[in-house]
Amino acid sequence: MRCPNCKNSSLTGEAELLRTEVVAGVEYRAHLPGWLCANCNGGYVKAVIHKDYQKRLALAVSKGPPQGDAFRIMRRWLGISQLEMQKFFGVRGESICRWERGRRKVPLSAWYLLAVIVQETAEKGHSSTLDRLYELNGLDPIESLDLYKGNPIHMPPPKRGRPRYVPI
Ligand SMILES: [Zn+2]
Repeated sequence: MRCPNCKNSSLTGEAELLRTEVVAGVEYRAHLPGWLCANCNGGYVKAVIHKDYQKRLALAVSKGPPQGDAFRIMRRWLGISQLEMQKFFGVRGESICRWERGRRKVPLSAWYLLAVIVQETAEKGHSSTLDRLYELNGLDPIESLDLYKGNPIHMPPPKRGRPRYVPI
């Protein structure tokens, strides 16, 4: 295999590559199996390994301190755009950017929601919470709704004893 960077030499045998990243003040370390280039000293891992690493990092930061840089890692891993985030949280255009750059504090409600979605997705490969968020976002406004339409209520059979009545 040739080095994708310098294209000069073949990559020397397998190596364990140490990757460290500081997110929300926490250092995350990962030893990834890959290759080192003897010529340019670049390190490479298979795309599937990198994907797994990103998933583990997103899951780990979802359980760490609620800060902007961690928020960005989670959002990107889920593939949610800043524009979609604005709609989900009903905030102005620049807000998500400010949260992620640490200029504004990430609201805890937004943090928890995203963290739950990341954990669901990492554990089950899919998040029904995220599905519902997209669904709620795409709804058209309505003015009236019949709660029992197509599902009429039936009077339950009488029971022994004194029935309870509630004013309505
Ligand atoms: Zn190289």
